[in-house]
Amino acid sequence: MIHHALKIIKEVCIGCSRCMNSCPTGALRIRNGKACLIEERCVDCGECYRVCPVEAIIVEHDDFKKIFDFKCRVALVPAILISQFEQRYSVKEIYSAIRENGFTHVYEVEHASVILPGLIDKIIDKSPVKPIISSYCPAIIRLIQVKFPELTENIMRLCTPVDIAGVYFRKLLNDSGVDNSDIGIFYITPCAAKIAAVKSPVGEEKSSIDGVINLDFIYNRIYSVLSSSSMKIYPFKEHENFRPGEISWSLTGGEAENLKTDKALSIDGIGNVIKFLEQVENRELKGVDFLELRACDESCAGGILTVENRFLAADRLRKRSKTYKRGNSVESDIFSYKELIDRASLIEEIKPRSVDILDEDFYQAMLKMQKLKEAEESLPGVDCGICGSPNCKSLARDYIKGEAKLEYCFFILQRLIENKKLTPQESGEILRAVWGNKKFDGEIDESKKSD
Ligand code: SF4
Ligand code: SF4
Repeated sequence: MIHHALKIIKEVCIGCSRCMNSCPTGALRIRNGKACLIEERCVDCGECYRVCPVEAIIVEHDDFKKIFDFKCRVALVPAILISQFEQRYSVKEIYSAIRENGFTHVYEVEHASVILPGLIDKIIDKSPVKPIISSYCPAIIRLIQVKFPELTENIMRLCTPVDIAGVYFRKLLNDSGVDNSDIGIFYITPCAAKIAAVKSPVGEEKSSIDGVINLDFIYNRIYSVLSSSSMKIYPFKEHENFRPGEISWSLTGGEAENLKTDKALSIDGIGNVIKFLEQVENRELKGVDFLELRACDESCAGGILTVENRFLAADRLRKRSKTYKRGNSVESDIFSYKELIDRASLIEEIKPRSVDILDEDFYQAMLKMQKLKEAEESLPGVDCGICGSPNCKSLARDYIKGEAKLEYCFFILQRLIENKKLTPQESGEILRAVWGNKKFDGEIDESKKSD
């Protein structure tokens, strides 16, 4: 079963359909006046979360108390967390504030980016399939599985930096005498897609991470420690030992700029990525060996769980990264585990998600395909969404799958009324199944009228 971090709170949803219209994979419908999720279509990109006007969509993370199930409590932090705070706070202060919240260790995900360029360069050199698509952004992997199944073979078979960092730090702790069962590694995430990647990883059986904490949740806790006058400062040494390119790995261009090839492209924003992948699918793209694709504008600086303006956060991280100079400790530590990391970072080939199969039986599938074509032709093709499906094609498909009626289409309803096959009252009842009673019975909340 696919784990999704995004959840719709039905009691709060007002059925405005903004989420349905913004979903890049057509994973949402309006039924009975509420948004409904088609789980196998959802890629956890969070576009619905961004547009919901009433916060009816939430991102579920682990209970923070879970960290106390472990003696050795590791916060695995992305550099994006640092970019949420003004420059006047030092990395040491921010990490100390995390420790004050109950963690015993704070480690950076970006340790993985020290070793990643070499691994990716090797994959690009060896692979007969081009362009190689980065596996960094879990929303993009899932988008390709759902919307561009033919391109799954282009996805790099390398697990995410978060997982690599998890393997590395667990081993470091094991080697210093800490028992595996005492170690809990908790990733602080800027997005829902990374929660889904930890809870149901693609291409690997189990993630190396034990739990996930939302960045906006921990941000408030860190901020309140930073604001207190009696804050304790813990010793940290490793955070100064990165190169600028390594610390800005999560920003747009972070991967491409660190590779040997000059045939690498970086694209951010899910709409841009979709348009670009359509070109790749049509074999219109030439001369590109590596694609760094990120679902969010400004990459992880624009993650849905970040609190700071994405442009400001990206700028801050770039500026901070320039103050980093590579020392020796990061390099020697992670490279001494190279064999282990080489083994642990390889994932299985990623398969498409079969969301568009009409029937398992070939003969039945062909029959349904014919019916689907007829249903599509009977619809007006205006994609107005009044049927509660995002467009006419989706309604036709929902109808063939037995999940909707063609009469949900306002134009079909009108035709049926004109031909006296339905009374206006009967047609109203049909639309109630889509939009619920509230919108028909005039129970409009005056406070929401301005929306
Ligand atoms: S965007 Fe509108 S339809 Fe979607 S969950 Fe929010 S309130 Fe409901
Ligand atoms: S770009 Fe970063 S924050 Fe956005 S979905 Fe991808 S991994 Fe998550």
